[in-house]
Amino acid sequence: MSSIKEESLVNNPHHNYVPLDSNLLRDLDTTGGIHSSILSSIEDLIKQIVKDTQKYITSFTNGDISKLDESYILTQAENLKNAIVTQFELQNYDRSIKISKTKIKDNMRRDAQLDEEQLEELADDNISDMIEKDYYSFNSTQQGLLSTVIKSNADYQLLKNVVFIVNNPEDPIPDEEDDEELNVAGGKVSLKDPISLQYFQDPVCSKRCKHTFEKSSIQSHFSKGGSNCPIDGCSQTITRADLYPDQLMRIRVSIYKKLEEKEREEDDDLERVI
Ligand SMILES: [Zn+2]
Repeated sequence: MSSIKEESLVNNPHHNYVPLDSNLLRDLDTTGGIHSSILSSIEDLIKQIVKDTQKYITSFTNGDISKLDESYILTQAENLKNAIVTQFELQNYDRSIKISKTKIKDNMRRDAQLDEEQLEELADDNISDMIEKDYYSFNSTQQGLLSTVIKSNADYQLLKNVVFIVNNPEDPIPDEEDDEELNVAGGKVSLKDPISLQYFQDPVCSKRCKHTFEKSSIQSHFSKGGSNCPIDGCSQTITRADLYPDQLMRIRVSIYKKLEEKEREEDDDLERVI
C-alpha cells in the first residue's frame, strides 16, 4: 500500500475501504479452469479407443491374418491423436489459469487489503486479460512438447504403425529409418532377441535407446549386475523402469510366424500335388 493512498485514506474517512475477504478468494478459486470431469472424460475416451483397438488387433493376430480392417485402425489412430492433442491443450489451459490465479493471489497478499478501485480493476477485464496473456505465453513454451508427447505415446505409435507392420512384419517403419540404427540387420528388423538369438515371445523396449530385448534375457542381464544396454556400441544406462512392452515387435513376430506357417502349408500342398 503506497503512502499516498494511506494519506488519502486518512484525509477521506468516507473512502470505501474493503478488506480482502474470503468470498473473493473463494470466487477466484472457483473461477475458470477446466472442470475435472472434462479432463477425466477425455481420459476415458483415450482409454476406450486404446482398449477397443487393442482388442481388435489381438483377435486379428490370433485369427485369420488376411482380413485386417485397415480403415478401422487408421480411423482409431486419428481419433486417438485428436484426443491426445485436446487433452494436452486443456491441461495447458488449466495450468496457465492456475499460474494466473497464483499471480493474482500473490498481488492480493502484497496489498493485504484492496480498495474499491482495485476491486473494480480486478473484476473488469483485467483478470481475463491476464489469464489470456499467461495462456499464450505458457502455450508457446509447450508447443515443442506436444510432438514429443505424441511421439512417445506407445499406444498411438502402435495404432499408427500396426497396419504397416502387419503388411511388412520384417521391415523398419519408414519414419524410424531416420533414427539411429535400431535392430536393423540388412534393412530388415530382427525378430530375434539379441541376447538369446531366439524369436521374441515377450519383447520389451528400452525407452532410453529403443533397443528391444526378450524380457527374461534383459532381466537376467540386470540380475548379473549389468546396468548398460547390452547391444554393441550402445552404452546407454538402462534400468527395469526404462522398459516397456514392445507390442509392435510382438505383432511382427506373430504375423511373421503365421505367414511362415501358411507358406509351409502351401509347400506341403505343392509337394502332395507333385
Ligand atoms: Zn541400447
